[in-house]
Formats: sequence, structure tokens, C-alpha cells
Amino acid sequence: MVATNPNPQDRELAWCRSLLEAITAIQQQLQSGTRHSESISCILAKALELTGCAAGMLANVSGEEPCRLTETVPEALPREETLAAYDECARVALQSGQHLISSDGNITALPLRIGNVVHGVLVLSAPPVPWADDLIVSMAPFAGMAAAVLRQFQEDLSASQVELVFDNLADGILTANGDGRIESMNAAAEQMFGYNADEVVGNSVRMLLPEPYARRHDEYLARYRETGVATIIGYGRELDGQCKDGSVFPMDVSVSQIEMQGRDVFVMITRDITEHKVQQQMVELERANSQTLELLVRIDALTGIANRRHFDEALTTEVRRAARDQDPVSLIFCDIDFFKAFNDRYGHLAGDKALKSVAQAIESCFQRAGELAARYGGEEFAVVIPGADLTAAAKLAEMVHERVSELSIPHGTSRVADHITISVGVASAVPGPHFDATQLVEEADRALYRAKGAGRHRVELAKPGGDLSKVGGI
Ligand code: GH3
Ligand code: MG
Ligand code: MG
Repeated sequence: MVATNPNPQDRELAWCRSLLEAITAIQQQLQSGTRHSESISCILAKALELTGCAAGMLANVSGEEPCRLTETVPEALPREETLAAYDECARVALQSGQHLISSDGNITALPLRIGNVVHGVLVLSAPPVPWADDLIVSMAPFAGMAAAVLRQFQEDLSASQVELVFDNLADGILTANGDGRIESMNAAAEQMFGYNADEVVGNSVRMLLPEPYARRHDEYLARYRETGVATIIGYGRELDGQCKDGSVFPMDVSVSQIEMQGRDVFVMITRDITEHKVQQQMVELERANSQTLELLVRIDALTGIANRRHFDEALTTEVRRAARDQDPVSLIFCDIDFFKAFNDRYGHLAGDKALKSVAQAIESCFQRAGELAARYGGEEFAVVIPGADLTAAAKLAEMVHERVSELSIPHGTSRVADHITISVGVASAVPGPHFDATQLVEEADRALYRAKGAGRHRVELAKPGGDLSKVGGI
């Protein structure tokens, strides 16, 4: 359209209108947060549209050389030659700082500058008629606007502010290319790994990883090369990092993939979690210790079954529960017969061993939830049995009595058998609201006392009409 309109004034008007459209289009792109590369493609597309060209490229200038960002080359043209010609034009225009028209008038290279600084070079093939100087001059407003967008793009990539933030972040940040080679590293990462950035830039990320993580990194990379899918992407992975001095530390790594100047860049955010790990271990240790302590204070050291303290707690809990649900709760008291004589005959150590066996035999009878067998003291054992009435508890008491007898621990000085036996007292209650657990203990103890008095080696039940009946018991 530019080249087909011979009237300079009309042409300028058309240019301005198109320019406004182009600015709006680019601003919209920028505002909606789309990538700069898209804005740059947009500049090129708009330039092609404005000039009626079929092909062109926008070279973003970084360092000395213009680097190609986008190209639109007609299929019919031999690509290599065309691109080489474009590159050459861009380079010459950049060097001279002036716009350039190729000798045949088919290509123009327009430096996009603000003041003396060139931010890019727009290279376009010829519109329907070859390029002329006045046509290119009329493109100046567009070139200025495109330069502003490019500057924004370049500033955003290397703004000193961004670098400042980058370097002052507590998290380590590393970027790597698609070959897994490190491209940049911030101050936090330098400190974390003990390297200067220039010692690692250009090297593989694996130098910062101990095994097996280095090998895994290579596997990720191989998969990425093969499939183009970066499975390394992920947040909050815990792995180990390796410092320059060979020391290893735990870190949390998040990897993301961004497109920068038309290529994939991997951004790794690393955080040293040594302290966090130590704290976690301390908490775990404390928890384990307190669990062990908790267990220790509730277990009888000699026999390994629950101790008196544990028993008292369980009894209180079960009596309260039984009172609430109006369920029965029973208690069994066991005492080894003539145990003093056993010690005297076989020695204290044998006595201890026998105590252990008896404890285990008693405990083995009570495996249901809530049931608890404990060493009540000396050679006495107590069992709390939630949900059992006197009849059910009596059956269990008989079982306990039998099982201890079946241990057949020789007891030559017992006056009731040739082996260790126990006397057992049983009590049961459906507790009323003011029921006191000690009443049940007293009742079971009385039954045990009667078992002893009646000749030992037997089970005695608490008497119906005992004290408990007055408070809602048996
Ligand atoms: P009874 O049939 O009337 O219960 O007679 P007993 O000898 O069993 O009763 P007594 O209360 O006179 O003696 C209990 C004995 O239990 C005394 C003590 O030596 C023994 N005993 C208590 N605790 C332990 C212990 O931890 N280890 C050992 N080996 N013996 C213990
Ligand atoms: Mg005793
Ligand atoms: Mg005894």
C-alpha cells in the first residue's frame, strides 16, 4: 500500500493511521502480559502489512551482532541465500547506523533507534516497487515505535533492577539451556554451592549434583532431547546439592521452563534446607523420645506388660466410659501363691523369670480393644475388662488361672501344687454416676483375699450384694 500510493501526503496519512493501529496492537499485546517475543513478531507482522512486503525479519540487537528473532521467507526463495542476504544487510545497517537499500533495491535494512542507540534492525524485502529513500524516511515513526518496544524488551531482559533483585534473592537461581549447561547463577546460588558464577557457566548442571541426582539429571536431559518434553519441570523437589568442596547439602528445587529469545531456558530455584532438615530431625527425635518416655513410664520394666500407673489410667477411663454407656466393666486380681517360698527355694533371679512368664501368660488372655493386663505390684497382677459382666469375667478369670497353671513352672515349696499357681479375685459393676473406680479394686481384692483364705489356686467372684450394688454395681 505504501509503495502503490504515489501521493506523499496521502501516503503519510495512511502511514499514521496504520501506525496508530500497530501501536494499539502492540500495547494490547504487552498489557495482556504476553511474551515479548510475540510483541516482536507483532512488530514484524505489522511492518510487513504496512509496507505490503511478503518477507522480512526483525533483528534484535544484543551485543555486537544482530540476532535473528523472526523471519518470514517466501517458500519460493532459496532460503539460505535470502537469509544470508538479510543478515548481511542487517549487519551493515547496524555498523553504519543508517538505513540501507540493497543495490538491486529489493532489500532494505532499517535500524530501529532511540537517540544514538540502535535496539534492532528491521529488514524487509521489496514491496511491489523497489525501495526508495523517501519511502523509508516515511517509516520513521513506525521505526521509532518499534525501537521503543525493543528497548523495553531488552531492558526487561537485563534491567539492572532485575539483576539487583536476582542477586539479592535469598533463593539460589540458576538458568540452564536445553543442553543442561548453566547460563547464569545469582549470588545466593554462588554462596550455596561455593562457586563463582564464571566457574560454572558453560558447564553441565550435573557438576552441582552428587549421585544419584547427577545421573538422574542426565536421564532427564536425554528424555528431553529425545521427546522434547521436559520432565524435569516440577516444584518443591527435595534432593541433594554438591558444593565445590565436595560437601553435600539437602535442597529444595523448583524447575520451570521459559522461552527466551525463541529458545527454551530452564530456571532452577534452589533453597538450602539443611536447617529445616535438622529441625525436622530434632522434632522427630523429640517425638520419638517422648513416645519412648511415654511408653517407659507406662510399662513395667521387669515383665514388659503395663505397669500400675497405666492400669490406674485405663481403669479410670473404662469406668467412666462404662458409666456413660451404662455398660459393665470387670476387674480381675491375680496373686502368685507362695511366691516368697519360691524365691527362697529357687532364688530371686528365677523368681524374676517366673514373674515374666506369668505376666505374659496373663496378658495373652486379653487381646481385645480396651482390655488391659498390668503388673499391679510385686507378684500381683490386675486386669481391666470393659464390657464384661461378672459371668463373662469369671470365664476369663478361669482361663487366666488355667493358663498360668499350664506354664508348669516347678514350685517344690508350694503347699497347693507342684508348680506355680495363682489365686484370682473377680469383681464387676455397671457404674452409677458417682461410682469410684477404687470401689471395684477393693471388691476384686476382697474376692482375691477370699480365694487365698479358701486354700489358694482358685478363682473367687465378688459376692452379689457387696458394696458395689449400692452404687449401681453388681
Ligand atoms: P501368698 O500365697 O499368700 O500370696 O504368699 P506369697 O509368698 O506369694 O506372699 P507374700 O506377700 O508373703 O510374698 C510375696 C513375695 O513376692 C515376696 C517377694 O519376695 C516376692 N516378690 C515381689 N516382687 C518380686 C520381684 O520383683 N521379683 C521376685 N523375684 N520376687 C518378688
Ligand atoms: Mg501378694
Ligand atoms: Mg502371693
